[in-house]
Amino acid sequence: MLDHPKFITHRHRLVENLREKGIQNEAVLGAIASIPRHAFVSSALESRAYEDSALPIGKEQTISQPFTVARQTELLEVAKGSKVLEIGTGSGYQAAVLCHLGVQVYSVERHEALYFSAKDLLRALGCRARLKHGDGTKGWSAFAPYDGIVVTAGAPVIPDDLVAQLSVGGRLVIPIGDQQSQTMVRLIKTAEGQFTREEYSGFSFVPLIGEQGWDG
Ligand code: SAH
Repeated sequence: MLDHPKFITHRHRLVENLREKGIQNEAVLGAIASIPRHAFVSSALESRAYEDSALPIGKEQTISQPFTVARQTELLEVAKGSKVLEIGTGSGYQAAVLCHLGVQVYSVERHEALYFSAKDLLRALGCRARLKHGDGTKGWSAFAPYDGIVVTAGAPVIPDDLVAQLSVGGRLVIPIGDQQSQTMVRLIKTAEGQFTREEYSGFSFVPLIGEQGWDG
């Protein structure tokens, strides 16, 4: 994938910006310093790729704000070799960040066109994520259980199937709320049938649409 010295400089500036906003995990910051986010947006938006903002990717969807990607990834507390399911592949950027951290990535996207473009791009970048086109509110049972599940669209409730696909010790990071703003919920499965729940406020995502999400 073509990179450019000016983009590398912009990425380092973005990393400093995220550090100032409270992102502390060096591995996550390192991934953001390495992944060419400009490759995940249209060429018309390339010059804005290293702003800390969400940007349109077509089909009325957005690539998440870098701060949000960093925060969700921190909350997943991934280790090399762990298995993570992402719901809402979108541009593929979050999947690329997870790949960079040495995670086995599984990701589901409901828009076929986004699924295909993310698949091509991730392959070109050398990321071996497994992608699927479909309704991610039902998870991806074939490869369950997961050490982490990250939902990158705002949900009205926590889908039961996602909770069921967590391993013991696994973490589910999901924005829950109305269609304007959400609270980030982290559910940790501490033992079979037992969970701890934490909340982090002030996020805004596109809606999670599906059987256990909002109506399309
Ligand atoms: N992680 C993405 C963010 C994309 S925005 C990135 O890094 O670019 C959220 C995505 O979730 C959108 O592409 C949207 O189409 C998708 N989505 C919404 N509901 C979904 C569902 N039920 N299953 C799978 N994907 C869904």
